[in-house]
Amino acid sequence: MVTVALVDVVKQYDAMEEVTLIGYKHGPALNHVTLEIASGETLSVVGPSGCGKSTLLKVVAGLEYANAGHVYYDSYDMSEIKPQDRGVGMVFQDYALYPTMKGKGNLAYYFEQHDRSEQDMEARVQQVADRLGVDFQLLLGRLPDTLSGGEKQRVAIARCIVRDPVVFLMDEPIVNLDAKRREKTRIEIKKLLRQFSITTLYVTHDQQEAIFMGDRIAVMRSGHIEQVGTFDELYYTP
Ligand code: ADP
Ligand code: ADP
Repeated sequence: MVTVALVDVVKQYDAMEEVTLIGYKHGPALNHVTLEIASGETLSVVGPSGCGKSTLLKVVAGLEYANAGHVYYDSYDMSEIKPQDRGVGMVFQDYALYPTMKGKGNLAYYFEQHDRSEQDMEARVQQVADRLGVDFQLLLGRLPDTLSGGEKQRVAIARCIVRDPVVFLMDEPIVNLDAKRREKTRIEIKKLLRQFSITTLYVTHDQQEAIFMGDRIAVMRSGHIEQVGTFDELYYTP
């Protein structure tokens, strides 16, 4: 497990230099963001559409480069760690499962790509499946098309976990589910994050969801972090 820290990170997309039609000039997508995600904690990042949440995730994952500032995994500057050694797992709103493979094939794919032995794969998939319970194990025998959105997302998350990530990045993982499934799935995701205690950034535009998922919550607006703290620190006023 690692502590992730952003120190004074600025990210400005090129297109944002331009003045828009209404004459408003956008600030950077990330405007001097400093934030720490403690080892094993889940930090929710909440804010309106366009405030920079996805950009924050991409910069932490190394999918976008910061124009200034640093991202650290423990004491290592992330830009100096080779991408394949970073141990980042990402989950997106659209699941992105391989459609022709059953659940188990989706989990096993990484091992096949890396010439890891069949035994390694079986052992690791079994280990993760055991911890996720019998309900989950039934999903492994099914093709993605036959799964509900919530079930697909559970398989997508498990696929990340078999890779043993040290940092877990989740971008609105339940936004595409209907209200009933959202409720159920968010409980399952929380349980799973607790079980594996991986350092996690959880992005959502929904305040209730942010409060439910996060050990702490960062409130983001126009490219900067407005507040960060536990639920009590942010919302409880005696
Ligand atoms: P959120 O995830 O909170 O909706 P984003 O990080 O996607 O916010 O976007 C933050 C800002 O950066 C927005 O103004 C958005 O239009 C802009 N932006 C995001 N991606 C790009 C891109 N690839 N090129 C130019 N501007 C972008
Ligand atoms: P690897 O990077 O270990 O070779 P793959 O061949 O499975 O892994 O994936 C190709 C690229 O996509 C890599 O850069 C990998 O890190 C990235 N990738 C694949 N799946 C995920 C995931 N669930 N989360 C984050 N990155 C992923």
